[in-house]
Amino acid sequence: MDLGNIKHIVVLGAGESGTGAAILAAQKGFNVFVSDNGELKKLFKDELIERHIDFEESNHNMTQILDADLIIKSPGIKESSEVMQAISKKNIPVISEIEFASYFTQAKIISITGSNGKTTTTLLTHHILKNAGLNVTYGGNVGVSFARRVAEESFDYIVLELSSFQLDYIIEFKSHIAILLNITPDHLDRYHYHLEEYALSKMRIAWNQTKEDYFIYDQDDEITMKYIGHLKSKGQRLPFTQEQKLNLGAWLENELIKIKINEQLKVDIDMNILSLVGKHNRYNSMAASTAACALELKDDVLRSSLSTFQNIEHRLEFIAKIQGKEFVNDSKATNLNAVWYALESMNKKVIWIVGGIDKGNNYDEIIPLVKEKVRGIICLGVDNKKILEAFSDEIEMIFETTSMSDAVEIGFRMAIPGEVILLSPGCASFDLFKNYEDRGDQFKNAVKNL
Ligand code: ADP
Repeated sequence: MDLGNIKHIVVLGAGESGTGAAILAAQKGFNVFVSDNGELKKLFKDELIERHIDFEESNHNMTQILDADLIIKSPGIKESSEVMQAISKKNIPVISEIEFASYFTQAKIISITGSNGKTTTTLLTHHILKNAGLNVTYGGNVGVSFARRVAEESFDYIVLELSSFQLDYIIEFKSHIAILLNITPDHLDRYHYHLEEYALSKMRIAWNQTKEDYFIYDQDDEITMKYIGHLKSKGQRLPFTQEQKLNLGAWLENELIKIKINEQLKVDIDMNILSLVGKHNRYNSMAASTAACALELKDDVLRSSLSTFQNIEHRLEFIAKIQGKEFVNDSKATNLNAVWYALESMNKKVIWIVGGIDKGNNYDEIIPLVKEKVRGIICLGVDNKKILEAFSDEIEMIFETTSMSDAVEIGFRMAIPGEVILLSPGCASFDLFKNYEDRGDQFKNAVKNL
């Protein structure tokens, strides 16, 4: 986009993304106004004041907003909102923070999207690139916004976690390497309840790629494969799969992950060296390794990075073993797909702590796996009706509680040595907790206090 005629920019929404965009826009000399119809967090407010950036909160001043030459929309703002409707009527161009930030960096972008596994894969990819000695940072949907990174420092590589909301309203944004991990129905309310629209939004990650770029995607993912034909971009396609052998991309053969980008670029990795456990994490590791191989990183650095990576909290995080009973915190599992992979990765019997705010779960889908892996269920939520209905006939021991410390104590008493007490709620946390981090932290504290 030609920014030559743009003087006055309005940033809608002042979270991490909007504040980052405002800081970058002000730094580049634009006249910036930030508008948020909610209250601003003190941290962001202080930053805007410190930089003399004009803003309003708990309001949208339409006269000022409609005076903009360009709107930068934060991912949280819905297209259907009144303010967006008015902007669209006036034909003011709207872009996302990701699009805007991309105008001001020469860094090679490795971007990662998907319904599950984004943060894990982003941090793993960053870990590999960093160990290889590259001048690299990460950001986007994890940690610091892309725009803020661009405003603060210059890097050769940026690994970006992107949600589908961040990919909406891109125009020219291009990733040198784009990774699409998987697509499971989520957030459909924002996409007119059309799976196709949601899937195509995720595929924007590969937009604008040329034949020097790479698009890495999960060939075992049904929804990805259903819509991939719609994608027109020219990036070299590198699928990964755990189900069959391939000629290009990443696949399994015996105990090896085999990666081949072309005749020159290939590597074999013993899959037993991966520090991340579970089938889902094997997908994440394959995706990150394919990116590393495409970047021509050294095989030994790749292997050692895969074996030393420590995932961040709340994702299948081992907490403690007490009297032979293990506690695992997977509080970030807020949908059943993530729960499925958590249970799948367990090679011991599980006492499963589940529940919270249901986002449309169909528990029938996981009944066979629950029957195979789970010996007892502890429902931790205000409304547990759906869970009780699904599992009462299948699992003998089911308890209900609204207290994390009770859940942990009951779990500890129910489990026998050699079993795992797994918090993998499959639901949002807001009925009883501030957020999933609070839920995971309370779990860890309760384990410590046993
Ligand atoms: P995101 O950033 O997309 O929410 P995370 O890496 O934070 O993903 O993981 C969220 C949850 O999903 C965790 O419970 C994790 O164990 C699970 N998970 C991670 N990778 C995958 C995957 N490839 N497929 C399904 N579930 C996954």
